[in-house]
Amino acid sequence: MQRYFASIDQNYFVHLTADDEHHVLHVMRMKKGDEIEVVDNQKLFLCRLDNTNPLTISMIHEIASDVEISEDVTLLFALTKGDKIDLVLQKATELGVKKVALIESERTVVKYDNKDLEKKSLRFKKIMKEASEQSHRLIVPEFLGIYNLKQLPKEAFSDLNYVAYEKDASKVNESFEGLKKGKSISILIGPEGGFSEQEINEVTKLGFIRTSLGKRILRAETAAIYALSVLGYLLENEKAL
Ligand code: SAM
Repeated sequence: MQRYFASIDQNYFVHLTADDEHHVLHVMRMKKGDEIEVVDNQKLFLCRLDNTNPLTISMIHEIASDVEISEDVTLLFALTKGDKIDLVLQKATELGVKKVALIESERTVVKYDNKDLEKKSLRFKKIMKEASEQSHRLIVPEFLGIYNLKQLPKEAFSDLNYVAYEKDASKVNESFEGLKKGKSISILIGPEGGFSEQEINEVTKLGFIRTSLGKRILRAETAAIYALSVLGYLLENEKAL
């Protein structure tokens, strides 16, 4: 069943975005009586099309849903080339991330000027909205923006902050040291060229804990997906922690 993020008013009428109205009517070609799922304010509802011209949708009842990771996970992902960022935003959303910031560091080669920024941000948010709908999540992760590693906003920090450092690859059994239920987590992943020693020292001073992501050197996008997969498993599997 199709799922959309929308708002439901006090008369139980559903208000979709223009894009989603178009999707319902002209892509899915839905008819009167068809049903959709709507997420409003992190709650899930079954809704039905009362009419298609004009499009009128009513909420029928709430559906119990428990799909989110209890702890907030924030991904801090260094800017990488090509469409790797799109891939990482989509996979991070499926893997339950709550917030994402893109990071400029000494060795990031991708540079966005202000003109680009607005357009890119809109695209990134669209990717995460669609991935949230596809993965049946109750929230769309928040895109915090693009920040220099030396100027991380306070929203980038969590109770526990980890920096994936490949020089610690061999210390697999110390991965995500101190991780525990009920604590929010930030995970910082470097660019294709990695972080410099100085950058690692600087973020360590800010409270980031170095962590291994296994014995092999992963591409940045693989590292992000792997880290979020491991965190999701550890946090959602009662027996794991
Ligand atoms: N030094 C790497 C190399 O030799 O290719 C370049 C960095 S790696 C491609 C990109 C990022 O992924 C790193 O900055 C790090 O954050 C993360 N990473 C990759 N493999 C890792 C590992 N085994 N343990 C921890 N972090 C890893």
